[in-house]
Amino acid sequence: MPFPQQLIDGYRAFLIGRLRHEQDRYRGLAESGQSPRIMVIGCCDSRVSPEVIFDARPGELFVVRNVANIVPPYAPDERAHGVSAALEFGVGALKVKHIVVLGHAQCGGVKAFVEDAEPLSPGDFIGNWMKLMAPAAQRLGPRGALPIADYLTRLEQANIVNSLENLMTFPRLRSLIERGQVMVHGAYFGVATGQLSVRDAASGRFTQIAADDYARMFAQPRF
Ligand SMILES: [Zn+2]
Repeated sequence: MPFPQQLIDGYRAFLIGRLRHEQDRYRGLAESGQSPRIMVIGCCDSRVSPEVIFDARPGELFVVRNVANIVPPYAPDERAHGVSAALEFGVGALKVKHIVVLGHAQCGGVKAFVEDAEPLSPGDFIGNWMKLMAPAAQRLGPRGALPIADYLTRLEQANIVNSLENLMTFPRLRSLIERGQVMVHGAYFGVATGQLSVRDAASGRFTQIAADDYARMFAQPRF
């Protein structure tokens, strides 16, 4: 099975583009190690790459991605916990200052949670993973007459809040957050629009950031 040509072409483009410009940076990072200040917990979705959205260079973002950007609650048992391990490394070893939970519109994981009426089997990894979203759905309450698209948006955002709350179940992280040494943020990316909203902790509302730049850019005439 040949290595995908798309990846070979992409790597070639990286060689003559980014690597040529950032070779010193890569070398420096190899020597001194990484020290990103920001950790992002995002979704696996191929349209929502944190490095692309935040125009990040090598060494700038410590990223963990999973289906629907979920932070499972603290569970000190014998099982393997990927997100918890990444949190431990990001917070304990790298000492990141910010943790951003990045959710997004049209999230397939959130949609699967809403549509999945089948009883779950132990091998249904997505279904069992998405169960972690149940507290978010409970807080939101029944959909009622709300159009499905609006309900999904609300659940996508409630799921971000649920992940933020689960960060507080990690005792050491909680104390760092309470002392202001680590700050946590919720963000939401509109795939179709490219708009980025950030959650205001006081009001709980998601508000578009760089809205002026966005408006200016899309107000320009197109030819
Ligand atoms: Zn997603």
